[in-house]
Amino acid sequence: MKNKRVLVLVIILSLMALVTGLVFAGICPNCNGNRTVPCTVCGGSGKVDATSADGTVWKDFKDCSACSGKGYTMCPTCKGNGTVYP
Ligand SMILES: [Zn+2]
Ligand SMILES: [Zn+2]
Repeated sequence: MKNKRVLVLVIILSLMALVTGLVFAGICPNCNGNRTVPCTVCGGSGKVDATSADGTVWKDFKDCSACSGKGYTMCPTCKGNGTVYP
């Protein structure tokens, strides 16, 4: 029975630490808490132009390699957390 009470206390303490952490954490100014930022290589479209051997440009033909065609990348400021600690 004694061990169980200790366990409950540990859970309560870790919950408090979690809540305190959330209060002190600020929303990331770089991504406004979105956790991702638009890809700078493709401008958020996820596609980049391809040029064929004869010089023809195929607009938005290839998947952007920087963001794997998603159009956004993980925010480097908060490392994808959406929050930063002061
Ligand atoms: Zn991209
Ligand atoms: Zn961020």
